[in-house]
Amino acid sequence: YGPSTEDASAARDWLARRGTFGHFINGSFTKPGETFETRDPATGDLLARVTQGTEADVTAAVKAARRAQRGWAALTGTERARYLYAIARHVQKRERFLSVLETLDNGKPIREARDIDVPLVARHFYHHAGWAELRDTQFPGHAPLGVCGQIIPWNFPLLMLAWKIAPALAAGNTVVLKPAEYTPLTALAFAEICQEVGLPAGVVNIVTGDGATGAALVAAEVDKIAFTGSTEVGRGIATALAGTGRKLTLELGGKSPFVVMEDADLDAAVEGVVDSIWFNQGQVCCAGSRILVAESVAERFEGLLSARMARLRVGAPLDKSTDIGAIVDPVQKDRILSICRAATDAGAELIGGQAQDGCFIAPGYLRNIAPANPGMEQEIFGPIATLSTFRTADEAVELANNTRYGLAGSVWSESATVATDMAARIKAGVIWINGANMFDAAAPFGGYRESGYGREGGAAGMRDYLAAPTVKPVREVAPK
Ligand code: NAD
Repeated sequence: YGPSTEDASAARDWLARRGTFGHFINGSFTKPGETFETRDPATGDLLARVTQGTEADVTAAVKAARRAQRGWAALTGTERARYLYAIARHVQKRERFLSVLETLDNGKPIREARDIDVPLVARHFYHHAGWAELRDTQFPGHAPLGVCGQIIPWNFPLLMLAWKIAPALAAGNTVVLKPAEYTPLTALAFAEICQEVGLPAGVVNIVTGDGATGAALVAAEVDKIAFTGSTEVGRGIATALAGTGRKLTLELGGKSPFVVMEDADLDAAVEGVVDSIWFNQGQVCCAGSRILVAESVAERFEGLLSARMARLRVGAPLDKSTDIGAIVDPVQKDRILSICRAATDAGAELIGGQAQDGCFIAPGYLRNIAPANPGMEQEIFGPIATLSTFRTADEAVELANNTRYGLAGSVWSESATVATDMAARIKAGVIWINGANMFDAAAPFGGYRESGYGREGGAAGMRDYLAAPTVKPVREVAPK
């Protein structure tokens, strides 16, 4: 199904009714302060005005989270789980509304918001409801960290919120989350869900704003910062927190290899590219942006790839047949185009990838590209891959690891031995075999090197929201 006109108008009615948003602090929405606009990147239409969070707003939110934390942590795991289950159910109940709102604010195809983002959000809360119940048996003696400041990007706004909030709450922490300035709307809709399920006031606080608001949160009295975004900003946050003793996890950029071995199913691998770099307009941190293909099959692979690329439909994000929607903002569109220009200036050939009116860029790839070309080194964060060839497995490994990042990788081969051998030699946090961009709440996600540290999802993700004090009685304590 696609969004009916009715779904789209439900989101538009909500925006018209709300118009201007304050923050969500201590269980209710604040009066709007100084605001900024959030627009639909596909049409340029104004969607809403949202409050620019000040230092005082951040302080108020952190205080509310601090006051709520003791009570939240004192609940039993089963009681906390009940809230997380309720959130998951409410996300499912409002899935069409949330999908449309996400598509309007971000520009991603409705098919993706509806079939991938929002179902994964619900799944994440269901999964972590389980962890709330299991915390004390699986992590005996562990305690929550306290108040967590969480800063997220705009590429998967509601999903990144779920990745941050679900484990933090399951562990017994309370949170102050700052959504990205381009895409604050689903976080504000999520705040309403917190009200609907009766989540105790102050357990979740949402403060909207730009990088300055994020910096104020980093400087605030929180016990942990969890950040997803660019390597550049992540580096600044690590520097700011150095010596403060506050915990930090970073999920940063990537330039992930997509390795097609000689014996790969080439049709499947081409579909893998569609799901990888042409998913979400390529605005995916773990996208297989560097395609490396065995020389012996390269010509056939490229023929299939360019034919498939030509069939992708670029267009209105709310149209359910759209494959490639709008880039999130004109600034990001210019950034993508300028890296492509630098790549072609340095000798690469760009196939497809034309800029279109508005925030649209056709899918494309850079060929004849040298390892030191800027298009090969920099994260383009748009629907443009690089295509290069290798002769031996050793050469493939060398090319795959020739990056400062280490977030993800994808290996395509019909031989389990070849695939697992190659996977083991790629230095990255997540490797998919004969697949790409498969996310699961139970599977830890995170990077190496300049892609950051810490994990989200599964037991490893829970551990990053817990402290493990050593408790040892000085005298033997006799059991009563
Ligand atoms: P960004 O770093 O500019 O912004 C991310 C968030 O940080 C936003 O909410 C922003 O307002 C905030 N921010 C900006 N400056 C800040 C500062 N000085 N202090 C505190 N917060 C600040 O990144 P972006 O352009 O929004 O997102 C794209 C980047 O995010 C890409 O590099 C991508 O690879 C990365 N990303 C990584 C993952 C992952 O899981 N590893 C997931 C999604 C995106």
